[in-house]
Amino acid sequence: MNKCSKCGTTEEEILETGFVGCEKCYELPKVREAVTKLFNGKTHKAN
Ligand SMILES: [Zn+2]
Repeated sequence: MNKCSKCGTTEEEILETGFVGCEKCYELPKVREAVTKLFNGKTHKAN
């Protein structure tokens, strides 16, 4: 399981709560993926 090297939050935790501990959390692969999907979804809906 990956965790943030800066704040120590695990990616599982972030995906579960939807909250990141810090800006470095976004560099975790699964978090990145989730954020990308989220943004794509929002962009799609907005259009
Ligand atoms: Zn972090």
